[in-house]
Amino acid sequence: MSSKGEPRCSFCGKSKSEVNILIAGISGHICDGCISQAQHIVEEEITQRVETTISKTINLLKPRDIKSHLDEYVIGQDQAKKVLSVAVYNHYKRITQKTTEDDVEIEKSNVILLGETGTGKTLLAKTIAKILNVPFAVADATVITEAGYVGEDVESILTKLLQAADYDVSSAERGIVFIDEIDKITRKSDNPSITRDVSGEGVQQALLKLLEGAEVGVPPKGGRKHPEQKLVQINTKNILFITGGAFVGIDKVIGKRLNTKALGYSRLKERETIEVDNMLQYVNPSDLKSYGLIPELIGRFPVLTFLNPLDDVALRRILTEPKNALVKQYSKLFEMEDIKLSFDKDVLDFMVKRAVDFGLGARGLRSICEAIMMDAMFELPSSDEEVKEFKVTKNYAIEKLKNSTIKNLKVA
Ligand code: ADP
Repeated sequence: MSSKGEPRCSFCGKSKSEVNILIAGISGHICDGCISQAQHIVEEEITQRVETTISKTINLLKPRDIKSHLDEYVIGQDQAKKVLSVAVYNHYKRITQKTTEDDVEIEKSNVILLGETGTGKTLLAKTIAKILNVPFAVADATVITEAGYVGEDVESILTKLLQAADYDVSSAERGIVFIDEIDKITRKSDNPSITRDVSGEGVQQALLKLLEGAEVGVPPKGGRKHPEQKLVQINTKNILFITGGAFVGIDKVIGKRLNTKALGYSRLKERETIEVDNMLQYVNPSDLKSYGLIPELIGRFPVLTFLNPLDDVALRRILTEPKNALVKQYSKLFEMEDIKLSFDKDVLDFMVKRAVDFGLGARGLRSICEAIMMDAMFELPSSDEEVKEFKVTKNYAIEKLKNSTIKNLKVA
């Protein structure tokens, strides 16, 4: 029992003898019990506010809605779109959900995209970031080197993300990073076809540092040019990493595995189907290991999906259908000069045919368009006569392409 006149906690009313510590304020007291309770409330409130801010800025759509947005920009690649939509949805759900006490920790769903060059890997990653309204950075695995070698440090990837986030660290910490050409940093010994890379495994190890969800010291202005700058700490725990590669020759690895497995119980018909389809759809993590990625790195990318090569029908659609289709972009540029641009139908077919010849996927389309349109874009704005309309015919396109340096694009 506390005696009368003994100071009491102004919050819970307990007397000094009933608590461990009682702290006096200007016009009251607080006990240790109430202090820890208040601290708990403050922490919860702060976490909730941060979560609300994140949920407000991120445009978290349901997987089906993410996919239909992707459909507006990317032609085909249904399977990759589906897998990505789910991975990205789960990832941001994981970040924005309140932590529960049931100890079930949802793991991060970093993604590997396998597919030929120019089939939309970068485009998918970039478009997803745009849809979700999160910062986005692209990095090329081949320019990253181990510390001490000529090239970029692995931290430079985060510098780009930080810049994309306008130097808002918390925003960068929930961004998306796309690492291109991951297949070019494979271990040489496991993949005799790659000869120029001497330190692939070292770079893979360096990348692991980012993927492991640690605090990384990042030079805000980038690289080794400004050694004096203060490092910014970025936690990579909630950054989504998407990586892509063409993995040339992996179809043979997959084929070999499938055949070994299929032996004994596969019917001939099934084997035939496997041969004609895009082999990449059967890829599994063990194939990546055989190709020369280290298991630790593969383990950090639990989601694996593939893109299909683009056939002429897909390329034709890419020219005109996406929201920012090439034809729409050129029309807009000409519209700004008050010129109505049109392409004859056979010009579009011609461009597609040449893009297929070049073997650069949709990437070739852009170069071809650029080569055909260059002279007109150079001349028309300063033309003496008033031009109201410009029609691109097949003969015009053939002529312009013939005179351009684009022939050098053709892959061997
Ligand atoms: P990758 O990363 O697979 O090498 P990109 O995504 O960089 O290829 O594609 C290069 C360009 O080609 C894109 O900017 C886009 O204009 C076009 N493109 C590629 N694939 C598609 C596609 N499936 N749908 C629409 N455009 C595409």
